[in-house]
Amino acid sequence: MLEIENITVSAENNIILKDISLKIKKGEILILFGPNGSGKSTLIKTIMGISGYSILKGKILFENEDISSYPVSKRARMGIGIMFQHPPKIHGVKLSHLVEYLAPDKNYVDELSERLKIKEFLQRELNVDLSGGEIKRVELFQILLQKPKLLLLDEPESGVDIENISIIGKVLNDYFKIFHCGALIITHTGYILEYVKANKGYVMMDGKIFCGGDPEKIFNVIKENGYEKCRKCEARVSE
Ligand code: ADP
Ligand code: MG
Repeated sequence: MLEIENITVSAENNIILKDISLKIKKGEILILFGPNGSGKSTLIKTIMGISGYSILKGKILFENEDISSYPVSKRARMGIGIMFQHPPKIHGVKLSHLVEYLAPDKNYVDELSERLKIKEFLQRELNVDLSGGEIKRVELFQILLQKPKLLLLDEPESGVDIENISIIGKVLNDYFKIFHCGALIITHTGYILEYVKANKGYVMMDGKIFCGGDPEKIFNVIKENGYEKCRKCEARVSE
């Protein structure tokens, strides 16, 4: 479904991603690990087409179409959804306005708002004065209303307590199963792995993909030995 072919990406004249290749099949869930500043968020922002990042080399294909130069709106309409690490506050826009625009299917809206416990935020301005866990629930709600085929999740657990992680994790897991959605998930804590069965894990360091394999095994190695062990990993892969 998604094929990233040897991309090198820069922002403000700095090269951040170096010759990255990655494939995600329909319904496949990939986990991306890596220390702070290694380029994980840059990779998913580049897939989504967020401005400020230039692809100097290589290309990104989505369902066999080269989307490398497409604007965010076109990629979103094609079925790519992103859950930001730090979603912006939008004054003057109520969540209910967005819901009317995004999802005509009232039953689906009701079910999802019930499960994500966001009904009380519908008449509030988007992300304004919400707690960390509330912002992530609202963010996931908006993304899933769009029924994406590929989900890009940037640290869905960051700033979220255990109870909220459980709500988010269960809703995500059901969505993946029902819609056969593919995903690229960035995680530091690994908590999301308790809810979502991932197919593969990769480690990114210094803008390169160092190691790939079983996500739980990789996560255990990182927990015990830190990322230095990954640098020397013999399972080093380029895709
Ligand atoms: P991660 O998500 O793995 O913590 P990021 O992708 O956010 O890492 O950042 C990787 C590196 O790229 C960092 O050194 C960061 O400062 C730099 N970077 C990210 N975005 C920009 C940008 N828009 N302009 C300049 N440098 C950036
Ligand atoms: Mg990041």
